[in-house]
Amino acid sequence: MEEKNTLSRRSFFKFALAGAAIVPFVMKATKSFAADACPTTAPAGKALASPTEGMGKTLKYVTDSTKAKDPKYKAGSKCGSCKFFNAAKAEGGYAPCTMMGMKYVTNCGWCTSFNAKV
Ligand code: SF4
Repeated sequence: MEEKNTLSRRSFFKFALAGAAIVPFVMKATKSFAADACPTTAPAGKALASPTEGMGKTLKYVTDSTKAKDPKYKAGSKCGSCKFFNAAKAEGGYAPCTMMGMKYVTNCGWCTSFNAKV
């Protein structure tokens, strides 16, 4: 009887350890998915970069990278894969951009300062 309880406890700890080991991967996959999906609404109360004003205008920021007209644009590049996109502070697919004075940009946007994450 006591032997059975010991094995059961051991099994429990094995599963708990295995579960704890996969949590970071699930979290990363979820965050990565969130960074890939294009947001439909901007986060409330956050200053957004504008394609028509300030740095947004200067750097030819567009909210939809596929509509970028600048010759520097390469298909597939977008804010979500740019090193200036502060993904750690992302909210609903938007995150502050270093080049935009920490104003929020959509992960599907793009500008001429795009610099791919390595
Ligand atoms: S610098 Fe990068 S993250 Fe910022 S607007 Fe340009 S492409 Fe997007």
